[in-house]
Formats: sequence, C-alpha cells, structure tokens
Amino acid sequence: MKLIFDNSVPGRRGVGLPECDVPAMNCADLPESLRRAEPAALPEVSELDAVRHFTLLGRQNMGVDTHFYPLGSCTMKYNPKINERVAALPGFSELHPLLPQLRNGNALCQGALEVLYETERLLSSLTGFAATTLQPMAGANGELTSIMMFAAYHKSRGDEQRKIILIPDSAHGTNPASAAVAGFVCQEIPSTAEGDIDLDELKAALSDQVAGIMLTAPNTLGFFNQNVDEVVRLVHKAGGLAYCDGANLNAILGRIRPGDLGFDAMHMNTHKTFSTPHGGGGPGAGAVGVAKCLIPFLPKSRVVKNAEDTFELCYDFPQSIGYVAPFYGNFSILLRAYTYLLMCGRKGFTRISENAVLNANYVRSRLAPYYEQKYTRSCMHECVLSASHQTAKGVHALDIAKALLDAGFHAPTIYFPLIVPEALMIEPTETESKQTLDDFCEAMIAIAKTAEENPEQIKQCPKSTPVGRLDEVAAARQPVLTAR
Ligand SMILES: *Cc1c(COP(=O)(O)O)cnc(C)c1O
Repeated sequence: MKLIFDNSVPGRRGVGLPECDVPAMNCADLPESLRRAEPAALPEVSELDAVRHFTLLGRQNMGVDTHFYPLGSCTMKYNPKINERVAALPGFSELHPLLPQLRNGNALCQGALEVLYETERLLSSLTGFAATTLQPMAGANGELTSIMMFAAYHKSRGDEQRKIILIPDSAHGTNPASAAVAGFVCQEIPSTAEGDIDLDELKAALSDQVAGIMLTAPNTLGFFNQNVDEVVRLVHKAGGLAYCDGANLNAILGRIRPGDLGFDAMHMNTHKTFSTPHGGGGPGAGAVGVAKCLIPFLPKSRVVKNAEDTFELCYDFPQSIGYVAPFYGNFSILLRAYTYLLMCGRKGFTRISENAVLNANYVRSRLAPYYEQKYTRSCMHECVLSASHQTAKGVHALDIAKALLDAGFHAPTIYFPLIVPEALMIEPTETESKQTLDDFCEAMIAIAKTAEENPEQIKQCPKSTPVGRLDEVAAARQPVLTAR
C-alpha cells in the first residue's frame, strides 16, 4: 500500500485557509526549550491523497460492518445506522458543553438534558435499579464508580474496616483492577465443576472485613448462576454489598432484572448491549444502575426534572463520590443508546436476548463434536470452547484464531476466561443470520480437520491479511509506532 508519506511534495496543500486576522505569533516569543530544532516532518499532500490514505488503511481492518465478529464477552452486535443519524442532528451535535442552563433564560440544551434524563429512566426500568448515572465513560469506569460508591457507603456507616472485595475466578480482569484502584484488597473465589461460584468457599470468605462481591451475571463462561439470589443474600447478611458486572446483559434483556435479584449496583456497557460503536478502546459509556441505598453517593452531575417539566444539572449532593467524567459523560454515545432503547422497546429486548442465546447454543452444539467443552451445560449469550484436542497436534487457540482470519471471520476471544485452558470464547450476538453462523461453523470444522491432517498449514495462517503472523512479544516490547 502506498502511504501518505510517499506522496509528499514540498508545498503541496490539501486545505485553503483564510487570511490570518490576528497578529501572527513570533517564534522568538516562545521559550527556547519549547522550540523545535527542525520543522516537523509532516507529509505535504492534497486532500485526495489524505482521503485515500485513510480509506485504504480503514479497508485493511476488520469490523462489524465488514465481517462476522464473534469476540466473546464483547457483544459485537450490529450498530444500526439510525443511531448515527440521530447523533448527527445539529441540535445535538453542535451544542456547546458550556451552554447556560434554563434558569439563565436559555433553553438550547433542554433537549439534551431530557435525553439524559429519559435514558437514565429507561435503563433503570429495564434493569430494575432505583437510579442510574450516565457519567462513566466505559464499563471499567463504571466498575470503579460503583466500588467507590461501596467505599463511601461503608464509610458513612463507620464500617471502614471493610477492605476486601470478593471476585470469582472467572471474572474479567477489569474487576480486580477496579477494586484495587478503589483501594480494596481482592480475594478470589473458585468456581465449581459446573462453572458457578462455589457457595461453600464464598461462605468461608465472608466476614466483617468484606466490603462486597463483584459477580458477573451471566458469567464469562456464558452461564447464569443458579444460586445468584443466594449469593446476594449471603453477602448482604454479612454486611457487604453486591455488584453485578453487567457486560453480559445482552443474554437477559427483558427477561430478568439484576436490580430485582438484589444487586446494589451494576454497570452496563452501552457499546456492547445498546449498539453504540466500540473497538480499539473506545468510545463507550458505562452507565451504572444503583439500589436506593447508594443513591446519595452517585457521581456528579445529575439531571433533575423540575416541577415545570424542565431539566437541570444539579451538583449539590454532599455525600456524592464527586466527578468521574468531565461534563455529562459521553453524550453522543448516550444519544445512540437512547435511540436504540426507543427503537427496540421492551418487546424488542425480549427478542434480542432470545436470539442471542439461541445463536450461541446453535454454535455450541454444532461445534461440540470438534472442540472440547469443559462445561457441557447449555449457555446464555456466548459459548466457551477449547482447543485442547488440537494441542496434541501442536495447534493452539491462537493458531485457530489466525486461521479464522483467512476464512474471513474476525477471531473470537482466546485464552479467556483463564479457568478454561486454550479457551475460544464465541459470542455470535442476535444480529447474525443462520447462514452466517453456518458459514462460521463450517470454517471452524474445516480448521479442526486441517489441524488433524496437516497442522503445519494452520500454524502458517494468516496468509490473506495485510500482515502475516506477527511476533507478538516483539510487538509489545519494541513497538514501532510510526508508519515507516
Ligand atoms: C467488556 C467488559 C468489561 C469492561 O468494559 P469496558 O467498557 O471495556 O471498560 C468488564 N467486564 C466484562 C465481563 C466485560 O466483558
């Protein structure tokens, strides 16, 4: 591929700027230490060259709009394009974050505030929580926000010796990271042979030192814990709080509400469950629903509906944990989630979870004869297979993931959850057709056969991608971050 730098010609420009109408800054006014010794080596190209550069780069990538993307625990569902249209409406996209609020005689941001208010209300009713904050910018940010609220809650009750957060061994890595950043010590609870948290181990771990538990429901093995209400009851009885990692909400939408199960807080990933774009680390939003006992600790600001049906951002919450994001959270992402919420409605969400679960079980049963399954019970939104049969021939989960790229599929999540050796975690989502799932299953079956008969062939994949097999250790240790 020809890169932008190859087309650079001194003096060539892609923009025509108007005459400068302010005094030009004199370079000599800058302190010596801030001045460049040499001009930056920027490519000088036409607008068309720049467009081609980025379009070609974009076409080397795989995305939901180009390929089936069964990345487990990530819910890479289709992002309906109507979300983009709504987010681009000038009344939203051109709002300045510092517009004065209504009380100053200005109504321009009332619509945006109403969207925030209504999104909070819809998410609360869908998940069974007393209130929701839209401030956190991602799921992990929502976890941290929640655990900071747990800390504030215990502090308000003079219970500050509670320094332990219990986390099952199947949890996503962000759970212990969030608890540690919030100042807690993590204690791991093992799973049973069925893949659920071990109740006896839980009972043994509970004490007046425990601040709470972080439970993923359904968990990262794709299982809904049969004893979830018992887990919550035990933790509450010991004086702790229960947090639900709601990243896998897609499996239970419209069917069960985590708030009704007794959880005190839960984050939702709008960029997973509610069809806002994600990948490469953002953007996203990690709304958090809370039970009544945590409302005083919610982060600022909060949208309030006044008696005259007007909306206002309020900051006067003395027990609040404070700010977790600038301004109002990731507003344009929340707009997309709001559009999706209205478009689906409660009936739509019931169908979404139904098809998400059906699709995952379809893939699981079609692939069962070819790939090891450590747990054989039926799954929720995702299934976890293992490449442990194939390792006898020297083919690992990583090799299978690479071979899938050549077959035209994004790789599933691999080597997670950690309690399944050689894990391949597949989440098809509800937006894929049976034809696509069949194509994917046939590719997986063909890979299993090739691994048996000609393992070397799999180890050389991918061959059709812009770059072949990478040295992942060197890429991490000595990254080359420029285009050349
Ligand atoms: C994705 C995910 C998270 C973290 O969400 P981010 O928005 O990526 O920060 C946490 N827990 C689980 C189970 C997840 O799948």
